[in-house]
Amino acid sequence: MPEHDLVVIGAGPGGYVAAIRAAQLGMNVACIEEANALGGTCLRIGCIPSKALLEASELYKMAQHHLSEYGVTVGDVKLDLPAMMKRKDTVVTGLTNGIAGLFRKNKITRYTGRGRIVAPGKVAVEGAQPVEITAKKIIIATGSRSAPLKGVEVDGTMIGTSTEALSFPEVPKHLVVIGAGVIGLELGCVWARLGAKVTVLEYLDRILPGMDTEIATEAQKILQKQGLEFRLGMRVTGARVKGAGCVVECDGQPPIECDRVLLAVGRLPNTDDIGLEKLNVARNQRGFITIDPHSFETSIPGIYAIGDCIPGPMLAHKAEEEGVACAEGIAGKYCHVNYDAIPGVVYTDPEIASVGKTEEQLKDSGIPYRKGLFPFIANGRAKAIGRTEGRVKILAHAETDRVLGVHIIGAHAGDLIAEAVAAIEFGASSEDIARTSHAHPTLAEAIKEAAYAVDGRTIHM
Ligand code: FAD
Ligand code: AMP
Repeated sequence: MPEHDLVVIGAGPGGYVAAIRAAQLGMNVACIEEANALGGTCLRIGCIPSKALLEASELYKMAQHHLSEYGVTVGDVKLDLPAMMKRKDTVVTGLTNGIAGLFRKNKITRYTGRGRIVAPGKVAVEGAQPVEITAKKIIIATGSRSAPLKGVEVDGTMIGTSTEALSFPEVPKHLVVIGAGVIGLELGCVWARLGAKVTVLEYLDRILPGMDTEIATEAQKILQKQGLEFRLGMRVTGARVKGAGCVVECDGQPPIECDRVLLAVGRLPNTDDIGLEKLNVARNQRGFITIDPHSFETSIPGIYAIGDCIPGPMLAHKAEEEGVACAEGIAGKYCHVNYDAIPGVVYTDPEIASVGKTEEQLKDSGIPYRKGLFPFIANGRAKAIGRTEGRVKILAHAETDRVLGVHIIGAHAGDLIAEAVAAIEFGASSEDIARTSHAHPTLAEAIKEAAYAVDGRTIHM
């Protein structure tokens, strides 16, 4: 029976990063992945293919509608959807093969098959080459899958999840997206840019639940201008294929006819049928594995869990941080993740990025704060590149000036937020950001100005 110091189940950003870090720390590591390619949801059917399509569809939209504003005239712009999909697949394959290379470099043993914990320290690999392996420690990093919705009959073609929406063979005439969360909006934008009419149905009275309301409201206005139709306060009760199209039913509303449906109402942890029931590994009501936040150990000693299958934001970089911390903890080092400094990005155009507390969270918890706002319309670089929509918002403690939250909607917000994450990680004040030199002309100067605005002393407004 093969023996390892550590076996990781699942090779997503949580699992593969934990495996690499543990190998760096001298452990003999194995990783079990049931899919043929490594990289998990993120690389195969999540972050990476969605961003490849977001970029390609944005370029198409630019060439079709906006290049002339920059004095660039192009001829007849045509969409080659198969080529766009092929490029996306090439990007994915390059990256998943890259993880296989990293496994070889770090001497991580790869098992292809489904991992099931048989007992503490023992995992069965099920599949074409079944085998039982032993390991002193086990990390569960099995990730998540799209949540179903009662009444919505997913057929994997006309009615599908994000996985199908990453590979539609043609541009839908009318795509109905159920759920105005991150995944629904990003993929809704892809297909709207490529020419589909997109209707987003959302149960709540707002989009992007959990994000700062002021920023989400601005996002809704901008996306509406781009052609997305939002119908808020709509509870979807069913969706089914009808003839050559689909019909979506909502509480108290006439049914909506369309030709494709994207179900994007959240994700559920992959924690069934991997041996947890038999061992009595504790899970919460929604199936997420409960862990000790100082070690990532589950209720069973020697078994750990990280990433989308434990509570917390379902984000690749959060899974990666946990992978590193968990491996270091197992190696006897300090094990810590700062959940106050995990950024969240929505890769719409413009991008929306945030870190730390929202204004609503500060109000609800009675924390006194000062707010600095700066619009990109007053930023020189934003004007030069023709991307003046959006703003930066900094929330700082009213007494200590410590930065508590930063929210950005605007071009490249996902990259700009890194400065704010570092500020929060280092416990910076808004005055620290205001006194930090920012290169001119850059979009990042809007962050400096928003920091000035906390103290009511913007220079360029
Ligand atoms: P996963 O990536 O889900 O990996 C788990 C792996 O475990 C999978 O490969 C699965 O096959 C395998 N597995 C499961 N059970 C078993 C078993 N019993 N045996 C063996 N293998 C098993 N996050 C971001 O931060 N940024 C983004 O831009 C972003 N975009 C996204 C877009 C989409 C469309 C989707 C769906 C998700 C997106 N996410 C994004 C979320 C991100 O993909 C997840 O948070 C991340 O992949 C979680 O990593 P993980 O390692 O916990 O799990
Ligand atoms: P997220 O969890 O960020 O992926 O977002 C999922 C979104 O789907 C949330 O905004 C939910 O409010 C929304 N949602 C959940 N159930 C329904 C439903 N039955 N009809 C419409 N929207 C829903």
